Amino acid sequence: MHLNNSKIIVIKIGSSLLVDKNQKVRKKWLSSFAKDIHKLKDKNKKIVIVSSGAIALGCKKMNFNKRSIKLDKSQAIASIGQIELMNLFSQTFAKYKLNISQILLTLEDTEERRRSLNAKRTFENLFNLGFIPIVNENDTIATTEIKYGDNDRLASRVAQITDADTLILLSDVDGLYTKNPKVFKDSKLIKEVDDLKKDLKEINIKGINEFGSGGMQTKIEAAKVCQLAGCGMVIANGLYSNPISRIIEKNNCTWFNPKVSKLDARKKWIISSIAPKGSIIIDDGAKKALRSGKSLLAAGIKKISGKFNKGDHIKILDRKNIEFARGLSSFTSDEIIKIMGHHSNEIEKLLGYVAKSEVIHKDDMVEV
Ligand code: GLU
Repeated sequence: MHLNNSKIIVIKIGSSLLVDKNQKVRKKWLSSFAKDIHKLKDKNKKIVIVSSGAIALGCKKMNFNKRSIKLDKSQAIASIGQIELMNLFSQTFAKYKLNISQILLTLEDTEERRRSLNAKRTFENLFNLGFIPIVNENDTIATTEIKYGDNDRLASRVAQITDADTLILLSDVDGLYTKNPKVFKDSKLIKEVDDLKKDLKEINIKGINEFGSGGMQTKIEAAKVCQLAGCGMVIANGLYSNPISRIIEKNNCTWFNPKVSKLDARKKWIISSIAPKGSIIIDDGAKKALRSGKSLLAAGIKKISGKFNKGDHIKILDRKNIEFARGLSSFTSDEIIKIMGHHSNEIEKLLGYVAKSEVIHKDDMVEV
């Protein structure tokens, strides 16, 4: 139902779908997946695939155990495995006359506006050429601090940047359950989520839904990004053959419905940042001003945390530490420490140079 109306679809594949527990490549499965993609392309849909598996395939080639490798080694393993991964896709997809390309992203590529626009243009050009971009994190470069770390959140950011209608997370579970289905017989698959906060209030995401590589937590974070970006998301079991047709036919999965978003593309990008560099706590007066569409001034800032530069993504919290907006800071964290609590006309004197009067301009801010 939702998929039929989607023009741009991002599909994320977890490593366990490509390589089984015995380190065997699931070639038959990939072939069935390619067949599904062929069907979607026939209906003129634009497809992006976000695929894990570089580390799993690198380990397979080197005969290493995935669990025992450390980050610096995993970067080298990913470099070995990424080419195996693309070979696998290229050979399998060629049978269905599907052309693929490779895009490797680092966190900054989506979190910096200019770079995210470059990435967007590349995706669009590949769509126009009829190619299917296959995306993975650039694991060979990423370090712990500047890493998505999981392909669920990477995929959600790709969905936002490409203006996708639907993100499909193919996992090794049917979707989100009310309780751990392995322990509780009465656990139920949640079919549809409209409001993440309300609908998931009673559910212990961390404790009871720990499956898949990133676990359920990163999938819910991906759902948040998608909802704010106005993109639908579905978690479905990808272990079966023809996993996309199965979603359409059986619909035994969890759908996260998008919010109707009135935000423009830039504001969607701001709100769905997955790596804010810091936060600012503001007083009630400033909160009221922000709610009525005003910019954030230094006078209303009570406290800040994190070290950030001009232009970085910042969370805005109220006095109770509840996040209610996000924005791009016009000042560095060091400058804000000097000017917070002060009137805007004192800024020049405090800093010793002329600066903007708004700490976060209203055009650079979005309520969560
Ligand atoms: N980028 C990693 C890989 O290709 C996987 C990350 C994940 O599974 O979420 O092996």
